[in-house]
Amino acid sequence: MAKILSVCIQKSTLLLTALMGGASTSQAQQPQSVDHKGKKMNVVFIVCDDLNADLGSFDDSIVKTPNLDRIRAHAVRFNNAYCQYPLSGPTRASFLTGYSPERTKVMDLKTNFRTAMPDGTLLNDEWCRFFKENNFLVGVSVDGPQEFHDEYRKNKQGMPSFVKVMQGINLLKKYQVEWNALAVVNDFNADYPLEFYHFFKEIDCRYIQFSPIVERIYHHTDGRYLAAVEEGDNEHLADFSITSEQWGNFLCTIFDEWVKNDVGEYYIQLFDTTLANWMGEQPGICTLAKTCGHAAVMEFNGDVYACDHFVFPQYKLGNIYRETLVEMMYSEKQQKFGQAKQDALPTQCKECQYLFACNGECPKNRICKTETGESGLNYLCKGYYQFFDHVAPYMDYMKRELMAKRAPANIMEAIRKKDLK
Ligand code: SF4
Ligand code: SF4
Repeated sequence: MAKILSVCIQKSTLLLTALMGGASTSQAQQPQSVDHKGKKMNVVFIVCDDLNADLGSFDDSIVKTPNLDRIRAHAVRFNNAYCQYPLSGPTRASFLTGYSPERTKVMDLKTNFRTAMPDGTLLNDEWCRFFKENNFLVGVSVDGPQEFHDEYRKNKQGMPSFVKVMQGINLLKKYQVEWNALAVVNDFNADYPLEFYHFFKEIDCRYIQFSPIVERIYHHTDGRYLAAVEEGDNEHLADFSITSEQWGNFLCTIFDEWVKNDVGEYYIQLFDTTLANWMGEQPGICTLAKTCGHAAVMEFNGDVYACDHFVFPQYKLGNIYRETLVEMMYSEKQQKFGQAKQDALPTQCKECQYLFACNGECPKNRICKTETGESGLNYLCKGYYQFFDHVAPYMDYMKRELMAKRAPANIMEAIRKKDLK
């Protein structure tokens, strides 16, 4: 097996792209040493940006690169190494997307590749084949029909993205890749639950996740503008947020249609999770679990935060350049963060008959006070309470079916026979 090496350096910065193992090519010189007959080789892939080829092994008269030259002595040199654009922005966009700068349209330091390639459009036949062959479930952000989706999902130029997202979805469907919709429920679409739900059925989306939007705007001196849970008050609520009542009505209306017609055919994450909690099983989403803290997020610079919704300085766990993920995830700080979901519940939640199903929902939304003035009540409390109260008889029925090892989908027949209204 041939070894392949391409090494590059720009001015004083050492940059390296190396790929060892793989097929030989007519452009490559043959390996100078080591016969690996029949041996399976590991692949070492060192990625670099600012591609250039000012190296000793490329006969550069100024730059001295003894270490890279040593690697080169055991490797194949590509004389046509593609130094496509020796600038960090374009090269970084290239190796992260797999496309050339002509395709990403990133030719400078400030253009975002999403300008030319918004979400979903990165899907192509090759990716979809790969997803299918490897049994991926792909999540696609789509907020309902075009008029709903395009209200907020625009690129930096203000262009709507629905058409392109649907192109990506159609490609997934063509290759029979399993996919689910991540649908944001906001002030604009929350009052049209059935139009919303029917859209997903029309495009044959079998797995749907609804995410209620609750955000508060709070300007910080360092330029950040989203409020952490302990900052600001509800007067700062962003106008695209939904109300608790809207959330309750949205869920109840869709549930009524789903429970009569679609159980076992369409999977709505929140309904499945509610049933799991009704059964005393581990729920599939953190928001309705007793504790959380297993979903940290890493920013582009290696900073790791407790959760995607808690990217604030006080919730920083460390940086991947200094600490390992295991150290950060098992740190006392992160353990406390996850446990606080349960420990910080106000008395109203602790005494709530639906605590077992709700668990106070996500701490990010606990920005209200209870009637007795206690902090930590969830902004969506009323909506969740309405939903759990509404679905309780149906959940009881499906739980009984499951306990008797029968399909919860039997509930649809029971409703038709009016055994259950
Ligand atoms: S804070 Fe909310 S979203 Fe984050 S892990 Fe906890 S429950 Fe999940
Ligand atoms: S429904 Fe309201 S009171 Fe009950 S657990 Fe959920 S947030 Fe707390």
